[in-house]
Amino acid sequence: MNSPMLTPEEHVLSTLEADGSRRWLKPKLSKGKLLNRRRLFSYVLIAIFTLVPYIKLAGKPLVLLDIASRRFTILGFTFLPTDTVLLTIFVVGLLLTVFLFTALFGRVWCGWACPQTVYMEFLFRPVERLFDGTKGRGGHKKNIAGWRTVAKYFVYFILCVYLANTFLAYFIGVDRLSEWVTQSPINHPVPFAVMSFVTFVMMVDFCYFREQMCLIACPYGRFQSVLLDQNSVIVAYDENRGEPRGKIKKSKVDGLPVLGDCINCGNCVSTCPTGIDIREGLQMECINCTQCIDACNLVMKKVGREPNLIRYSSQARDRGLAAGLIRARTIIYPLLLVGIIVAFLAVFLASKSFDAIVLREPGNPHTLTEDGQVRNLLKLKLTNRTDEVMSFAARVEEPASATIDFREDQLQLQPRETKTFHVSIIAPRDVFVLGRADLQLTCENGNEVSRTLSFKLVGPYN
Ligand code: SF4
Ligand code: SF4
Repeated sequence: MNSPMLTPEEHVLSTLEADGSRRWLKPKLSKGKLLNRRRLFSYVLIAIFTLVPYIKLAGKPLVLLDIASRRFTILGFTFLPTDTVLLTIFVVGLLLTVFLFTALFGRVWCGWACPQTVYMEFLFRPVERLFDGTKGRGGHKKNIAGWRTVAKYFVYFILCVYLANTFLAYFIGVDRLSEWVTQSPINHPVPFAVMSFVTFVMMVDFCYFREQMCLIACPYGRFQSVLLDQNSVIVAYDENRGEPRGKIKKSKVDGLPVLGDCINCGNCVSTCPTGIDIREGLQMECINCTQCIDACNLVMKKVGREPNLIRYSSQARDRGLAAGLIRARTIIYPLLLVGIIVAFLAVFLASKSFDAIVLREPGNPHTLTEDGQVRNLLKLKLTNRTDEVMSFAARVEEPASATIDFREDQLQLQPRETKTFHVSIIAPRDVFVLGRADLQLTCENGNEVSRTLSFKLVGPYN
């Protein structure tokens, strides 16, 4: 197995040793202005994530993704399964916002707001440092007393259960969740199974998989090469200023500087949560967490040099080109976004308080009644889009001589309910031309909002 062909020259992945075993990263905590800001921002985000399921807007949850009832409430607006167009426009708008945001600010999402980073760096790693006693040191795992390990995993487990329950609240709502957590799991096996599964996934992620989520699994990370451009914000090492790097003792010969400002202390590497060396240039593994900026600024302060050897920059700026806010993608994305917002508003404002569609019943397309008329069996699918009970009436506009009959006594829908009613349309034979007749069916609700549906009746060839 010593074949040179099988021996990589360097780490293929920062989380793998050369022999393929896991390289456990224990990033050193680097205190500084940016860490303080990120920490504050992260705790605000954690509070928001925890509180959102409790917040109501005009009596509705701010966010409730009720998969079982197929109702998705976002910012107080409820999308129904019939809102495919609105949902599609909404998702496309979200994607475009991500594209625009990344083009302008690079991976600021990854470093500042992604739940993986927020929870890993500001919840799970602090717990690890507390129990492992590393207090921010980097390096390999140390021999830790057994009880510390057990206590650490117990705290991890409690955190994961809390996160999984919060996650579940987005899908079932806090009212149901607070009721269910006081009851036996046997009464609610599916939500309990979901919560247990999410707890398990989080334990695997935050205890074992960790930074590999950003390096291997996250699709957003993989798309960076196409989402970023020369002017996007990145965290970068100032090579012109830092190189040639070397120990501070050797930085001067005969009182003249012969080295750059980087003293090759390695602090920017040992603090990196993804285990990379920022001095090797822009890398897909860099999540723009800014820890190397804080680490290097601390070093620069100690050695009395200017800060920001590592700083927020852009590829264009590093090549001495002027920073350009206006470029193709920062013009095209906002234009598309405006189009998306207009389309969303147009569809939204055109939507009425109820939806109605008419379909043919399976089986015989038509039958003849005893008095020789033609009966078509149809289904009328109604959706009440409001939060009130709604009653409907339906009448045939065309053919004028046709009559309508319902199997159900009344057409009534509960709030946000979708229901199918069974309809018979009975029309004289003479309205059919080549076996077809146009049907115009009008549905009206109590508020006199109406929808007229067109359909082709089938009958005998006259
Ligand atoms: S290189 Fe710097 S900014 Fe990028 S992930 Fe590592 S520490 Fe964070
Ligand atoms: S922390 Fe700064 S000085 Fe130290 S190795 Fe990194 S870039 Fe060089």
